[in-house]
Amino acid sequence: MENMEIDSTIKEDIYECNHTFWDFLDMYKLELILALVIVVAIVVVVAVMAVRSFKKKYNVIRQQEERIMVLQQKRYQMIIDNSDEMLYEISMQGDACISSDKIMEKFGWFIPKRVDNLSIRKLSEILHVHPDDEDLFYSSTEGLVADKSSKEILIRLGKMDGTYIWCNVIYFPVLDDSNNVASIVGKIVDVDSSIKEKMQLQLQSRTDGLTGLLNKQTFEEETVKYIMANTAVSSAFIFVDMDFFKNINDSLGHNMGDQVIKNTAIKLQVIFANCDLVSRFGGDEFCIFVKDIPLETLLDKLRFAVDKLADVYTYNGVRVKLTGSIGAAYCADASVRYEQLFSTADKALYEAKRRGRNQFVISQI
Ligand code: GH3
Ligand code: MG
Repeated sequence: MENMEIDSTIKEDIYECNHTFWDFLDMYKLELILALVIVVAIVVVVAVMAVRSFKKKYNVIRQQEERIMVLQQKRYQMIIDNSDEMLYEISMQGDACISSDKIMEKFGWFIPKRVDNLSIRKLSEILHVHPDDEDLFYSSTEGLVADKSSKEILIRLGKMDGTYIWCNVIYFPVLDDSNNVASIVGKIVDVDSSIKEKMQLQLQSRTDGLTGLLNKQTFEEETVKYIMANTAVSSAFIFVDMDFFKNINDSLGHNMGDQVIKNTAIKLQVIFANCDLVSRFGGDEFCIFVKDIPLETLLDKLRFAVDKLADVYTYNGVRVKLTGSIGAAYCADASVRYEQLFSTADKALYEAKRRGRNQFVISQI
């Protein structure tokens, strides 16, 4: 009996110590929830404080960076403004564009600080590129964006008064971290006077000094070029030589002779179309290459020319009558060599002189 009591006491003790984890949770439910809430609250507070401090630091850094950027921009603008060069920078995003005062002084326009929807066409408009130079500008700028290399082009840029200046534009890309073109930096150099001088010299070397017509060499070059490119087109080669021109020099003087030569040149330019090649071969001899002309029209023109060349010149009371002779070679399909046209027209001129001058002779090839 005593043994049985002891046994049951042990069993009770064992039973009492046999609590599970869930019993424990259940027992301290409230305390545990409270502890969890406190932990979460602490974590949230710490996180908010950390974010706030990070934001603060970030804003300070950003403000510092912005201040540095503004200073850099000001410094950059100052350098550009005080440079003798015409410099500019156009951002591909269209913002923060910069141009030196020298551009304003030279052209009367400036590059806007902000450009919306920037495109190569817009760039061309901003720089006031001459319409005839737009294609060159487009292809060069497309090339710059594609191969990310600097370019140098000779183009005309417009002034506010409507005139254009020949400029050498050297421009290069500024690349961002991803190797994309972020902006274009350029330098404009006014080369107008040297280009115009060169063009004048070129023109002088191509033209006859007295009349301004093409000279013999340029006439031959241009005619050969045309014949080679237009074999299926009719054409005429015309020699004009004034009759007894020496009489003009002898009777009215050499200066008056020069005036008559100039006058003859103007008449020939009026008679023949702008696209035809009118030249002075020297002395009182002119040569014309007429492009794409039906035979009937040519005959009318030659008749008209003989009529117009006949004139009376008076100086100091002395009157001298002057006429001209014409020899022409006509080729219906232009598949002919320059030399053949030349010699055929020359022979025709000789024939016109032989027949008594003041007339034209035409030979068909
Ligand atoms: P023809 O009818 O046979 O052509 O007789 P022509 O007197 O016109 O003779 P030719 O064409 O052989 O000579 C042209 C003359 O033109 C010779 C020269 O005295 C003169 N001459 C040549 N160049 C010039 C020039 O630049 N100015 C002037 N005033 N006279 C020139
Ligand atoms: Mg003559």
